[in-house]
Amino acid sequence: QFESVGFIGLGNMGSRMARNLIKSGFRVTVHDINSYAVNMFLEMGITTKETPFEVAEASDVVITMLPSSSHVLDVYTGPNGLLHGGNFLRPLLLVDSSTIDPQTSRKLSLAVSNCVLKEKKDYWKEPVMLDAPVSGGVLAAEAGTLSFMVGGSEDAYLAAKPLLLSMGKRAVYCGGAGTGSAAKICNNLAMAVSMAAVSEALTLGQSLGVDASTLTSVFNSSSARCWSSDTYNPVPGVMEGVPASRNYECGFASKLMAKDLNHAVASAKEVGIRCPLTSQAQEIYRELCKDGHEAKDFSCVFRHYYSGKDE
Ligand code: NAD
Repeated sequence: QFESVGFIGLGNMGSRMARNLIKSGFRVTVHDINSYAVNMFLEMGITTKETPFEVAEASDVVITMLPSSSHVLDVYTGPNGLLHGGNFLRPLLLVDSSTIDPQTSRKLSLAVSNCVLKEKKDYWKEPVMLDAPVSGGVLAAEAGTLSFMVGGSEDAYLAAKPLLLSMGKRAVYCGGAGTGSAAKICNNLAMAVSMAAVSEALTLGQSLGVDASTLTSVFNSSSARCWSSDTYNPVPGVMEGVPASRNYECGFASKLMAKDLNHAVASAKEVGIRCPLTSQAQEIYRELCKDGHEAKDFSCVFRHYYSGKDE
């Protein structure tokens, strides 16, 4: 159904996702404000555009993969943004895969649904937006094994599924606009708390005389086993191939985790739910960033506990 795909945001995740679309045979047009990121695609013979609006004019679908809500708002509604054409939109479908707050996703979905299609297609009646954030880091983006969680119209989700599955291995439909973003921040809040809990327990265990590898073996064959202990262990030397084994480089940045926890806290406030663990985790990851670890993988929360003990 979709032949031309626009891709905006060619960073750690987006550059890899766009490459997988190209490999799958889609006609891809890209844009980023970083000329280095754009040049890599130019050198591959891929069409590049100066503005999001020009990408929109060239595409059936536009995918965005940007750092945060303000960047997404800017790319959609800023000067020469995707919605710059007023009420007349060229792409049939807009897919935002950035991790942003559900409120912004809902607001943009409404703005898109208030537009009309510039060129009617008999199989597609009106412009639609999906919020479709991903789980899985840079390696999953590279391997095309991301998991998408999708909010918006179910028909649009079904139409977009083959496109999403050329960048990932799973897509879960979560409900109406904003529910993909909601699912993502809930996933990340659980991950932030579990990583901090595993780090706290391993720090205490080491201080009580059990080494981290032994304690990890205990967790992984007992009821504390979780992704943070058996797949993405935070202690250097316990597992190979994880950020902890490379000085917490090349992973999911602490500043991105802090951003997602801010969204979770704000969303909890909005719906009047008490989330004390989320607030505590927000404080811990904020401190990590303040201490200069904002670009390090979020599992360096372990080091934060450890340095706390030494002081
Ligand atoms: P990144 O910072 O590496 O890439 C973002 C890209 O967006 C950069 O190339 C930047 O130049 C570009 N950009 C920023 N503002 C722009 C604008 N106005 N117009 C055009 N381009 C613009 O970030 P990333 O690691 O690729 O993450 C992207 C999103 O995916 C974030 O929301 C993040 O939370 C989420 N995410 C990241 C990971 C991960 O492991 N890195 C995993 C899952 C989800």
